[in-house]
Amino acid sequence: MKILVIGGGGREHALAWKLQQSVHVEKIWCAPGNGGIAENAECLAADAGDVRALVALAEKTAPDLTVVGPELALVNGVSDAFAQRNWAIVGPSRKAAQLEGSKIFSKEFLLRHNIPTAKMYGAYDSPREAYAALAGVDWPLVIKADGLCAGKGVALTTEAATARRFLESAMEKNEFGPGGHRVLLEETLEGDELSFIILTDGERYAPMVPTRDHKRVFDANRGPNTGGMGAYSSDELLPAGLRHTVMSTIVEPTIRGLAKDGIPYQGFLYIGLMLTNKGPKVLEFNCRLGDPEAQAIVVRMDFDLAEVLADVTATRLDPAKLRWKRGASACVVLTSGGYPGKFETGKKIEGLTSINSKAGIEVFHAGTKRENNSLVTSGGRVVGVTAARDSLETALALVYQASEGIYFDGMHYRQDIGGHVARVKAAGD
Ligand code: AMP
Repeated sequence: MKILVIGGGGREHALAWKLQQSVHVEKIWCAPGNGGIAENAECLAADAGDVRALVALAEKTAPDLTVVGPELALVNGVSDAFAQRNWAIVGPSRKAAQLEGSKIFSKEFLLRHNIPTAKMYGAYDSPREAYAALAGVDWPLVIKADGLCAGKGVALTTEAATARRFLESAMEKNEFGPGGHRVLLEETLEGDELSFIILTDGERYAPMVPTRDHKRVFDANRGPNTGGMGAYSSDELLPAGLRHTVMSTIVEPTIRGLAKDGIPYQGFLYIGLMLTNKGPKVLEFNCRLGDPEAQAIVVRMDFDLAEVLADVTATRLDPAKLRWKRGASACVVLTSGGYPGKFETGKKIEGLTSINSKAGIEVFHAGTKRENNSLVTSGGRVVGVTAARDSLETALALVYQASEGIYFDGMHYRQDIGGHVARVKAAGD
């Protein structure tokens, strides 16, 4: 099999790394890839959100299978364009990708199929109506811009003045682009979050191991939101009873709902859950794997990913093929100083060669590039140090120990991924 991976972050590095292990895989391209992915795939320059460019690339390379990492190409219809040409691609159609591309579409889907989610107060495209609606809501309030807003489209507000300011930025000042012109007001849910990702061929589905990510830049969930500072996976994240509830009240009705609405879905479906005291509820859908959840997931895969993804595109997914390493995994993301605000790039990264992947530690690159035979930083999130082990404690100990050996000017990472600090203290260290 020759495979094209679309994207160039840590998630795509993790995918390329896992695909490369398959006996069925002869060649991997990654568009655009990055400095680390270049070890596992041939990187091809491309704009990962530009459908026409991606079609042209596939025309030239003729892959047997294409795997889409990020959402933009999917929301822009890359799967439809490939399907028209009978090219196998893992990723939902433009219509199905609306589950991520439009919060209002997604909320209406959830309500139509009685899937537990936060109560919606209303959806608005007129700022005046949105301001007026603030008089009738409970606080704190969650406001969501309808479209893709590069992670800036959700606000949890405790009072009307802040809510008005957010609405003004989105709807009147155009600060989030067209994605901010319509908004959704909804109830605030409380509880622990969980990322539950399934792989489906449109008929059958198979869950990934459950994961939890850490979005805030500083320890103890302080500071601004980022693309993700780390993630971990553990069987204990989702005990059997809760898992059963998630499957029967959320996953099954979602799959049935997609079929009923005539929305074919092939690919990864990310279900963001809040585990509330009234049961699990859906916060959001994403139409692809999470980043850095993907990194924590692939290291626990005990199956041939290329074979399973080819099965998905042939509508013959066999859930029994997805076998997982027992235990846990962790991914700690090392970032440029200043991220998610302004940061400098071009910093030389040292210590990577001392990391022994034979010991089960993988460094997935997100923002790196090669320059004169060395690796330098080229983005906010630089690398994700990842490992799977039989317990979360050992996986965390391993990734933190490895992270200490990596250096670049301004490097920052959270110390408390997976409750690391608390765990070390509890162990009396
Ligand atoms: P979304 O893009 O919809 O997932 O929102 C991003 C983040 O905002 C989620 O991961 C949650 O942390 C938070 N969030 C979204 N909706 C709610 C809600 N109804 N109640 C509490 N937090 C929420």
